[in-house]
Amino acid sequence: TPGGSSRSREEKIVVTVRLRPLNKKELSAKDQVAWQCVDSHTIVSKPQAPQERSHHQSSFTFDKVFGPESFTEDVYEDGVKNVALSALMGINATIFAYGQTSSGKTYTMRGVTEKAVNDIYNHIIKTPERDFTIKISGLEIYNENVRDLLNSESGRALKLLDDPEKGTVVEKLVEETANNDQHLRHLISICEAQRQVGETALNDTSSRSHQIIRLVTVCVDALQNFVDLAGSERASQSQADGTRLREGCHINLSLMTLTTVIRKLRDSKLTRILQHSLGGNARTAIICTLSPASTHAEQSRNTLYFANRAK
Ligand code: ADP
Ligand code: MG
Repeated sequence: TPGGSSRSREEKIVVTVRLRPLNKKELSAKDQVAWQCVDSHTIVSKPQAPQERSHHQSSFTFDKVFGPESFTEDVYEDGVKNVALSALMGINATIFAYGQTSSGKTYTMRGVTEKAVNDIYNHIIKTPERDFTIKISGLEIYNENVRDLLNSESGRALKLLDDPEKGTVVEKLVEETANNDQHLRHLISICEAQRQVGETALNDTSSRSHQIIRLVTVCVDALQNFVDLAGSERASQSQADGTRLREGCHINLSLMTLTTVIRKLRDSKLTRILQHSLGGNARTAIICTLSPASTHAEQSRNTLYFANRAK
């Protein structure tokens, strides 16, 4: 629709899609590629056998789509960079990866976080007249429990508190000041290692938890979040026992909320933590990751519907 409001929303939320290559397992299972990026904005489902054709939407357009040959650098430059760097100008920024398990969320988030760290420090070096401090915290949300990724002692779930000035804060969450880019990378790697400890302890829950790396830029007091979400697959589809099912409910509560969040904030730990970063003076990049495999076509379609709603 013409008019100012839709235009400004477009600038605030950048939605991109990344289709990864078929992996070894899919190749050896002779899985077919079900999606194709036909230009830099459009992804279409490949024509199916006539008996399989359905009424599903088959073509989707986004700010940008990245095919299997794309580099994380392209994804960063064209979708994330401007959003990430706006935090240096006092605008809260959040970068999400959304998609089913093994679609490439962690792969993509690690890459874009690394590139953002480089750019942040390049900017700091180029702006000697301003005195920036970068602080970092890392947390994981598993079954609505919040765990500190910079404090290995803390096995306990952290509480969320409503601070009259700051809004929702995570009680006792460790926040470290980065001395330089190398130190920041080191702190990020601690968060990643800590997440893996949790995965092992909980018997590979990698796909079941949301991870948030938050940077605070003190010069202009803005927040920057790098969010690696839990797998988006539906509970009904995972061959689930009680635990998995409960996990599924929590994950979907957060992700469903996230769908609406962009327009209207609702209650879940994830959205409460990200509250100040998603409304008002904030910019968001959502990278939706897809497996190209035809066996995952339905999940991929769900991801594209989510991406469409987030636009
Ligand atoms: P998720 O975090 O969504 O569960 P991962 O990021 O762990 O998925 O990716 C699953 C596997 O696919 C990993 O082995 C990863 O290295 C690989 N992978 C993901 N995206 C790509 C890509 N764009 N190019 C090459 N390999 C990829
Ligand atoms: Mg992952």
